[in-house]
Amino acid sequence: MLIVLSGPSGVGKGTVRKALFDAGDTDFQYSISMTTRKPRDGERDGVDYFFVSKEQFEANIRDGEMLEYAKYVDNYYGTPLKYVNETLDSGKDVFLEIEVNGAMQVRANCPDAVFVFLTPPDLMELKHRLINRGTEEIEVINARIKQAVSEIKMMRNYDYAVVNDEVENAVNGIRTIIRSERLRVTRV
Ligand code: 5GP
Repeated sequence: MLIVLSGPSGVGKGTVRKALFDAGDTDFQYSISMTTRKPRDGERDGVDYFFVSKEQFEANIRDGEMLEYAKYVDNYYGTPLKYVNETLDSGKDVFLEIEVNGAMQVRANCPDAVFVFLTPPDLMELKHRLINRGTEEIEVINARIKQAVSEIKMMRNYDYAVVNDEVENAVNGIRTIIRSERLRVTRV
């Protein structure tokens, strides 16, 4: 199974994904993304992201090495294709945590994947979360909010929506989805 967790930046996708994996009760393999954005304090290459130059990223796109990619607030983010293919081929399940444009590319290429939209309880809370995170300038926050409004309209393209009011609730929502999907007889 390929599961795609998506939703606006700042909604808490990273936190929810980490809580799910830290709980140790998922056997999904997390696909580490590639990005041209600079590492934040405490972020490690090959753990949080593969941090690469714009030239390197564009070469990977040209060579067909990305399952999906998007330009987001002036940086590239994408999923290396090889890891996903090899992991799925070995019979393991893969977990992607990506923004919505990339998710729609996966939807086009992998129609059997399961798409989960993580949504904030409301937009003001999203803004507060971004400000409290304290890692972005106000212009970047406003650019992200603008993007979030259009992202929320995209929810209808997903199989499931999970509200991130509390991390534990969101994690439980994802666990429920995984359990249901494993019981599924057919996919449309
Ligand atoms: P951040 O800079 O906060 O780490 O990430 C910005 C946005 O890029 C977030 O919405 C994050 O989920 C998304 N993102 C991270 N990795 C990928 C990826 O591989 N592909 C796409 N399309 N988006 C990604």
